[in-house]
Amino acid sequence: MTQEQAGRTGWALVACAMIAAGSAGLRAGQVQTGEWTGTVTATNGEPLEATFAVSGSAGQIGISLSVAGGTLDVLDVDTTVDGISFTLGSGTGARCSLDRQDDGGYAGTCVDARGAAAPITMRPPGAAGRAPVDGPGGPESDPIRTLVDRLDLERYKETLRGLTQFGDRQAGTDRNRAAIDWIENRLRGYGCEAERLVYTVPLEAALYLSSTGGSLRRWGNQNRTGVNRDPSAQPDVRLRELNAQPTAVGRREEVYCTKIGSTRPDEMYIVSAHMDGLGFGEAANDDGSGTALVMELARVLNRADVRTERSIRFAFWNDEEGGLLGSHAYVAQRRALQGVEAPAGSGRYPEPRWLGVIQHDMLLFDHGMPRADGTLSTEQRLEADINVEFQVNSRLADQSQALAWALRAANEGYAASYPVTVGSHMGSTDSVSFQGWTAAVSVRENERSAQIGAGWSPHWHQPTDLFTTYSDDDFRLGLNAAQTTLAAVARLAGATVAP
Ligand SMILES: [Zn+2]
Repeated sequence: MTQEQAGRTGWALVACAMIAAGSAGLRAGQVQTGEWTGTVTATNGEPLEATFAVSGSAGQIGISLSVAGGTLDVLDVDTTVDGISFTLGSGTGARCSLDRQDDGGYAGTCVDARGAAAPITMRPPGAAGRAPVDGPGGPESDPIRTLVDRLDLERYKETLRGLTQFGDRQAGTDRNRAAIDWIENRLRGYGCEAERLVYTVPLEAALYLSSTGGSLRRWGNQNRTGVNRDPSAQPDVRLRELNAQPTAVGRREEVYCTKIGSTRPDEMYIVSAHMDGLGFGEAANDDGSGTALVMELARVLNRADVRTERSIRFAFWNDEEGGLLGSHAYVAQRRALQGVEAPAGSGRYPEPRWLGVIQHDMLLFDHGMPRADGTLSTEQRLEADINVEFQVNSRLADQSQALAWALRAANEGYAASYPVTVGSHMGSTDSVSFQGWTAAVSVRENERSAQIGAGWSPHWHQPTDLFTTYSDDDFRLGLNAAQTTLAAVARLAGATVAP
């Protein structure tokens, strides 16, 4: 590793071979020996591919960490049943603590001497070689695997936590506008050029709601649902003050950014979530969870070494909670611009033709049906899944269903630990605004109408929808949704990664 590379990692380096850890309490069997792969984080925030050579016998575990052709000292390795920790030597002093993941790997954070924290992940020997059933060759040649591996739990959580600094982000408030600015700054940092759409509430244009009729049954126990409209119901004084400003009608903005396709810039998939919320909490699940997912996909897909044949737009709707107003405004203003080259001959398409919309709205909480007494499990249910829904009664139901199955296929190839279940009753989120015009699906923690609508998500629109309400298992469900959509849209848009 060169000095420049050392600067990129932020960690001064010396040559390192195997460092034997202290013997206290270590059993070699607790960590599989062999060549682990994973990522460490450079000071510029980019994940760097890393190799962890783990060896040892009873009482001694050694790790040799290689990054970008160089090595980092690894000292004071400590293992427990649930995790591993070690110190990066050579002057950095960063202490890394990683927790065991469902897939046998580890994920966690390194904190350096200045207190700066950065994500780190380890995948067990052989995991990197788990090629998808229909991957185009070995793992080295599978760009989708490369892209999916650039997601990790800590980074997803960090982005979600960042959104919660703006409270419930209710539309028509300064805290909502500050969140839009923050999202836009992040998108620019990812190299994704951002634009804004302006509209006025109440909307002047006719709404584009399509039929969502048809029967819908709810099964089993149900809890009452509703929206908390009482600011004083928030017990946290700081948060109560943050959410104090009431909403007002008038001018609204929403932000989107676009990865332009290399060979088909005139066609695009829209990956979306709504960034506004309700309830006088932090709107962490509804819909910080979806907003952070879309931001993470924007980060991964806009890296300089990634090309896509088709364009991908990352959209952050506003006023979803007011009746899908931001997405309705987008459809009303931009539907007729699809596929139009402007200026003529420029090769630019301000509104590429819509190939499909994938909306993400509430991704964290799958603890099952309420019990007969109205209580809910505090633990994630063992059967937790990702619900991808299309609207069977919409005009483009066939195309939408095909998109849903594409997400399920991507999930089976690339998600780490939770399956996709496809359903036919998409409703009550921004993809509805598009369902008459292009393939449209929603991605959720549960089915919206039958399950969330029956009270399966107790923090929905409540003061308790806080970052601290959710466990790593909950966040991991959201990460698996990110892995699913990233793999699907990378495949659909024709993504490649430069070697
Ligand atoms: Zn929502």
